[in-house]
Amino acid sequence: MNQILIADDSKVIYSILKKKIEMELHYEVKWVKTYFDALKLINTDESGFMAALVGLYLPDSPDGEIVDYIISKNIPTIVFTGDPSDEVRKKIWSKKVFDYVLKEGGHNNDYIISLLKRINRNKSIKILVADDSSIHRAKICDLLRVHLYNVLEASDCDETLSILDANQDTKMVITDFEMPNMNGFQLIKDIRTKYNKEELSIIVMSGDNSLSARYIKYGANDFITKNFFTEEFYCRVTQNIELVEHIKEIKDSSNKDYLTDMFNRKYFFEVGKKLYANSKRKNLSISVAMIDIDYFKRINDAYGHDVGDLVIKSVGNILKNRFRESDVVARFGGEEFCILTCNMKKEHTEKIFNNLRENIEHSDVSCGNKIINYTVSIGVCTEHLNSLEEMIKEADIMLYKAKEAGRNRVCL
Ligand code: GH3
Ligand code: MG
Ligand code: MG
Ligand code: MG
Repeated sequence: MNQILIADDSKVIYSILKKKIEMELHYEVKWVKTYFDALKLINTDESGFMAALVGLYLPDSPDGEIVDYIISKNIPTIVFTGDPSDEVRKKIWSKKVFDYVLKEGGHNNDYIISLLKRINRNKSIKILVADDSSIHRAKICDLLRVHLYNVLEASDCDETLSILDANQDTKMVITDFEMPNMNGFQLIKDIRTKYNKEELSIIVMSGDNSLSARYIKYGANDFITKNFFTEEFYCRVTQNIELVEHIKEIKDSSNKDYLTDMFNRKYFFEVGKKLYANSKRKNLSISVAMIDIDYFKRINDAYGHDVGDLVIKSVGNILKNRFRESDVVARFGGEEFCILTCNMKKEHTEKIFNNLRENIEHSDVSCGNKIINYTVSIGVCTEHLNSLEEMIKEADIMLYKAKEAGRNRVCL
C-alpha cells in the first residue's frame, strides 16, 4: 500500500488531507509535527513513502532543513507554505521539490490529490529531451527526473528520430530548435508524419520567441523560452501530458467495451479491415474466429446478471492474454467475441483454438461458496473469401455448426 508522509504542525491540515487522501486514493497517511519526528519515522519505517507533504518552516526546522532532508532521501516532496512571496517561491524552487502548495483553504486539496496522482503515474511516462547542448539537456532532464518521468535523451535530430522509433510509446518530445543535421521545423515535420498531436506532444525550446507561432503551426503543441521559470516549465509539461492522457481516455472509451475493457465491434472493423486488405495483398494467412459462451442464459438465470458479467469478464481476460499484440480481440456484444489473427499457420489453427477452448473449459468463477464452470463454442474461417464481412459470416456459420453438434467444440 502506498504511504504518504505529512510533516506539518497543523492538525487541521493533517485531518483534512488524511481523510481526502484515504478516500480518493486509498493511500495510507502518516503524520509527524516536527523535523525530529520526521527523521525518526523515515529511518524506522520499512515500507517507505511514495511522497511527502511538508511544511517549509517547522519549529525545529526554521530554514526549511526538513525539506532538504526529505529530498535527500529521494522522497518526492510537496511543500506547504503560507507565504506566496517571490522570495519564498525562489527559495522553494532552488530545492528539488515536486511542487509547492499555498496554505489557503480547501481548493488546494484537490490540487494536492492531482499531484499525488501524477507522482504515481509519471514513472511510466516517457519524455524525450533533444538538445545538442549537454548542459542545457542535463538541466531539463534533471527537472523531469524530479517529476519522476522516464527520461530519454538525444543530442541531434537523427538520434531523436531513431530513439522515437525504438520507443513508440513516448508521450512527449521537448526539443531545442537549433540542432545539428536538421532545423527544428524539419524535425517537427518528420515527427508528425508518424505521430499526431494527440498522441505525442512536442514542446519547442528556443531563445528566440519571435518564431513561437510558427513552431505551433508546424505541429508543435507548445513553446517555451530557454530562460524559463521552473514553475512555468512544470506547468506546461504537466498540462500537455494531461492533454495527451485525456485524449487517449476518450479514444479508449469509444474503442473499448466498458464491462471487459476489450476492444469493441467498431474498433474490430476499423482495424480488421486494414489487416484484411494487407494480408490479402501480401497473401499472408489470416483467420477470423467467433466465440460464444454456451448456455449463458442459464448462468444468468441461475446466479444472476452480476455473476453472468463475471463470466463474460473472465472469458474476456483469457482471450486478451492469449493472442499477439498484432491480433485483434474484441467483444462483439453480449457473450460473443470475435478474434482476428494474422500469420497463424493454417495447420496450427485448429489446435490453437482447441487449446483455447480447453483452457476456458477448465477455468471457473466463484460465487459465494459455489464454483461456476462454463464452456464456449468456436467457429473459425481461415480463407480470405471476398471480404472481412464474408469471413465473419462464415465463422458464424461454423459457430452455429459447433452449437448444433453439442457445444464446447471448435468447427472450421
Ligand atoms: P447458446 O449456447 O446457444 O449460445 O445459448 P445461450 O444461452 O448462451 O444464448 P442466448 O443467445 O439464448 O442467450 C444469451 C444471453 O446473454 C441473453 C442475454 O440476456 C445475455 N446477455 C447479453 N449481454 C449480457 C451482459 O452484458 N451481461 C450478462 N450478464 N448477460 C448478458
Ligand atoms: Mg542547439
Ligand atoms: Mg451463448
Ligand atoms: Mg450468443
